[in-house]
Amino acid sequence: MAKIAFFSTQSYDRTFFENRTDHNHQFDFHENRLKIKSAGLAKGFDGVCVFVNDRLNEEVLEALADNGVRLVALRCAGFNNVNLKAAEKFGIKVMRVPAYSPQAVAEHAVALIMTLARKTHKAYNRVRDSNFSLERLIGFTIHKKTVGVIGTGQIGQAFCNIMLGFGARVVAYDKYPSQEMKDKGVEYMEQDEVLKISDILSLHCPLTPDTHHLINEDSLKKMKQGAMLINTGRGKLVNTATVIQALKEGQLGSLGIDVYEEEEKLFFRDLSDFVIRDDQIAQLMIFPNVLITAHQAFFTKESMEEIAKITLQNIDDFEAGKESKNEVSCKLIKDC
Ligand code: NAD
Repeated sequence: MAKIAFFSTQSYDRTFFENRTDHNHQFDFHENRLKIKSAGLAKGFDGVCVFVNDRLNEEVLEALADNGVRLVALRCAGFNNVNLKAAEKFGIKVMRVPAYSPQAVAEHAVALIMTLARKTHKAYNRVRDSNFSLERLIGFTIHKKTVGVIGTGQIGQAFCNIMLGFGARVVAYDKYPSQEMKDKGVEYMEQDEVLKISDILSLHCPLTPDTHHLINEDSLKKMKQGAMLINTGRGKLVNTATVIQALKEGQLGSLGIDVYEEEEKLFFRDLSDFVIRDDQIAQLMIFPNVLITAHQAFFTKESMEEIAKITLQNIDDFEAGKESKNEVSCKLIKDC
């Protein structure tokens, strides 16, 4: 039996983990995010189970190790929030859920695109107000548009498949192009070329030192004027200040984001009674051509079931000392 302290727990996390009876591990659920101040909650536990905005830097990992923790079980695929070098140094194993439902995230990216392209968010509000006018609701057709994809891993490929189904021309950049995608009609090219010709650009690469602020003043200038940018990857792939400027100038036509550079302070919380102190998101929230969702692309029943199942499997493997393909270590990334 492994003792695991959960951080950043929401009611739905609890439900999906408590619904499973196929294990004998002991769980303690905390709503707190894991940071240095809350690391003490893991004292005497074998592992911690964390999510995207828990910060596992060297200081936190050292504190966890001092408290006896030997496992970090991520309830997500991305692991940019864990200092893997420090985890190795302190003898902490890091495991993730690499693919709970790439389709869920890809489908959410499509939901953002469709909403922005056909203005259904505005139509919904209008009709509820008995306003049946079509003025200013004109959209655009995706069929035959050029859709650019940065990163064609599991989610990027699921996204390419949907866009091919729409009859779009799909162009992509990935350091490791997929033969299967090529065979299906995805055209691989240099990143700058993808930026230049895409009517819609969707980001599906991980956040690494290489991809930090991939979308910046320079890359925005390279994009087709009036293009749509979709980010369901990680907030820091995009330099928000430069995107706001490009939206103001009309260089960027619209923006759909499920992730935000400073989301740690905002997302997964109900702040409806508070003044939002983050000026950049406050500005984005009022732009008519911007759609923001609060990191919900993963959030389907199917994904949550899979996350709970695979996380439990990871804890079982850790306890049994078994090697697992879900372990992440410095070997996986450059500049670790
Ligand atoms: P994956 O590892 O299967 O694929 C990532 C792809 O990106 C790989 O093909 C890799 O070669 C490519 N890549 C790496 N560096 C690149 C670069 N500099 N330029 C272009 N391509 C590059 O990962 P995945 O499961 O497809 O997930 C992608 C990302 O989506 C995750 O890292 C995570 O940040 C994000 N994500 C978001 C949500 C959400 O709810 N919004 C959920 C899951 C994952």
